[in-house]
Amino acid sequence: MQDTVAPAAQQVIEAKPGWHLAPARFGKPGSQADALVPCPDFCDENHVQDWTQHVVDLDHWGPTNADWDADSILNPGARLLALSARLYLDPNSSDPRMSGASVRVDDETVDAFWTPEMTEQAADGLIAFAAQLRHLARQARAFNERTGQAADTGARPWQSLTRNDLVSRPIPFLLKVFGVGVVEADVESVALRGEPGSMELHVLPDVPQCLREDLARRALLAWFDARVGGDV
Ligand SMILES: [Zn+2]
Repeated sequence: MQDTVAPAAQQVIEAKPGWHLAPARFGKPGSQADALVPCPDFCDENHVQDWTQHVVDLDHWGPTNADWDADSILNPGARLLALSARLYLDPNSSDPRMSGASVRVDDETVDAFWTPEMTEQAADGLIAFAAQLRHLARQARAFNERTGQAADTGARPWQSLTRNDLVSRPIPFLLKVFGVGVVEADVESVALRGEPGSMELHVLPDVPQCLREDLARRALLAWFDARVGGDV
């Protein structure tokens, strides 16, 4: 392990094609020094700001220009699944696949480092996965259309509903679209709690079904007027 900047200083050589010389900071806080180091042209790291203690810890990163994430019906807006990819190079690795440019893929749990060939293989696999996803979407939509399930209008189907829909559409449909569960509770008046996708309608146990439907519609209209207003 090298603790001094001398080895870095010795690396000050003429930049090869595809490389340039960039300033880098090494050492421990209170005992740091800067040196010029070879840096691949794709690297956008600031090696002074993001200093390393040892020369062997220096590695190079490209910008993240491949990024995908998705939320869920149950976690709208959350970065629930995520993948990002960027170029990577570790000049001190004994593995030539790492000391040359590789692709680092991060699922926010683990990092995977891929050669260009492995990356192309993964890209082919993801294209096949995307086709399978489309097939599943078609199957789900066909089932929902056949069985009259909630409108398949995306992750937030309630956003496509107008105030007129809330007045005229059947209550079971609206409860499904808004993800409303009916909870019998000792409440003074009907109460709609939660956010679309996960709502609870609190009603007294002795309220008859037809009145519950009327109360549910009124509660959804009140929610609509308060949250959406005349925008839709
Ligand atoms: Zn660099």
